[in-house]
Parts: sequence; C-alpha cells; structure tokens
Amino acid sequence: SGRWALHGKTALVTGGTRGIGRAVVEELAALGAAVHTCSRNEEELGERVKEWEARGFRVTGSVCDLSARDQRERLLREVADRFGGKLDILVNNVGTNIRKPTIEFSAEEYSLLMATNLESTYHLCQLAHPLLKLSGSGSIIFISSIAGVVAIFSGSIYAMTKGAINQLTKNLACEWAKDNIRANSVAPWYIRTTLTEKILANKNFEEQVVSRTPLGRVGEPGEISALVAFLCMPGSTYITGQTISVDGGMTVNGFY
Ligand code: NDP
Repeated sequence: SGRWALHGKTALVTGGTRGIGRAVVEELAALGAAVHTCSRNEEELGERVKEWEARGFRVTGSVCDLSARDQRERLLREVADRFGGKLDILVNNVGTNIRKPTIEFSAEEYSLLMATNLESTYHLCQLAHPLLKLSGSGSIIFISSIAGVVAIFSGSIYAMTKGAINQLTKNLACEWAKDNIRANSVAPWYIRTTLTEKILANKNFEEQVVSRTPLGRVGEPGEISALVAFLCMPGSTYITGQTISVDGGMTVNGFY
C-alpha cells in the first residue's frame, strides 16, 4: 500500500488500446494496480497486452463493443472472475464523436453517440456497483470533456452526453457514498490522440484552439492519466462528485 501507490488495487479501464485510455492503463499499472481493459479491435488489443506484459504490467483485456448491452454484461462477468468479485477502480473512458451542425444529425447518429458515450457508461456503473461495493472503497472516474462544461464547437450530441456524465457524477457521489464509492469526472480540453489527430492536423484549427488556451498548447494523454491516478489513491478519499477540468486554463479564460 502507500499514499501515492495503487499496489493491491484492481481496475477496469474501458478503451485502453489508444489515447487517454492507454495512458490511464499504463499509469495505473505502473503504480501497482492490476488492470483489465477492452476495445473492439482484437489484433490491436493483443499487441498492447503483449507490450504491457513485456513491461511487467499486470494487464489483461477483452474484445468488447461497449455500445452493445450483452457485451457489457459479458465484460463485467470476466472482470468479476479475474478479480474475485471485487473492483476498486472503474474508469469509464470510452467515447466517440461526430462533429456537425445540429440540424444535420440523423436518428442513427443520435443513437450511436448516446449508446457509446452515455448509455454504456451508465450501464457499466450499474453492473460494477456490487463489485465496487465489495471492495470497501471504490472509485469511479468518468472521462468527460470540456464540451460538457462550456459550449464549444464539438457537436451538440457529444456535448449533451458529457454534460449528462457530469451530472451522473454528482448523483452517484451522493447515492453511493454510503457504500464508500466515490465518483469524479475528469474533463479534458484538446488532447493529442487518435480521436483528435485529424482535426488537429488542420493547423488553422489547432491555432484557434491554442489561442484560447492560456498554457498555449494542446494536452497530452499523460496529463489526463496523472489526475485519474490521483483520484484513485488514498490521498483523494475526501474528493467526490467533482468535475475537474484539465484544460490548460481554457475554461477560466474569459477574455485575456
Ligand atoms: P481514442 O479514439 O484515441 O481512443 C478510444 C479508445 O476507446 C480506443 O482504445 C478504442 O478502441 C476504444 N473504443 C472506442 N469505442 C469503443 C467501443 N464502442 N467499445 C469498446 N471500446 C471502444 O479516444 P481518446 O483517447 O481521445 O478519448 C477517450 C475519452 O476521452 C473519450 O470519452 C473522449 O470523449 C474523451 N475526451 C477526449 C478528448 C481529446 O481531445 N482527445 C478531449 C475530451 C474528452 P477501438 O476503436 O479499437 O474499439
């Protein structure tokens, strides 16, 4: 154990093969946690698990499309098996985006974003609750977005899913406090990942993003995973229900 370590802890991190999820898996594993992750791409997942094993990390993975209810149920059965029915940490990281004007969204796109970003997250919390409760001190972390805190050019459906996650954070923090489960939300501004590489390749757009960011640059996945790790540690046991922005100062930048 120890105040700044995660030895003996178990974690489920969704979407761990790339981007922020990958950084979170590696951060938690490096701090001593046993981690289970998932993604839809079997080959990429297999490669990552091999790399992690070679680095001495205790990480396993399941192929799983989190937008499908039965696959979420199977994932949690596998997690319960691996960790003996207990889970200390749930990091709800999976999310995707379609960026377009509100009047152009189809019903299918609405359903896909809601299922992937919000419904899957909600259902995973329901499924993980008994495991988190049994751990005696559970921590749920949502990877939300600045798009759920202020209005940005992200597409309105994505923004709605992230705003809902920030509210869910508050409700679960209160509802599950009696089970000693904490819930916190981490809201990143632009982070360099496979999700944003295309839009950031447009240098005009990146310049606009950077010009609104006091620290004058976009963020890196490791700058998100550091906070996620802290929110799982004994040092953060009085923090719950919060949405914490990791944004280079963007959301406090009125007009400077
Ligand atoms: P990436 O697209 O780079 O990575 C997403 C990860 O999730 C991959 O491992 C992917 O693997 C997996 N994944 C995606 N969809 C599913 C699914 N349906 N079922 C299972 N696994 C899935 O995204 P980021 O790292 O950029 O984003 C992670 C989270 O951070 C998201 O919730 C996003 O909204 C949020 N965020 C990101 C920001 C950024 O600037 N990058 C800013 C603010 C928030 P595979 O595709 O193979 O399934």
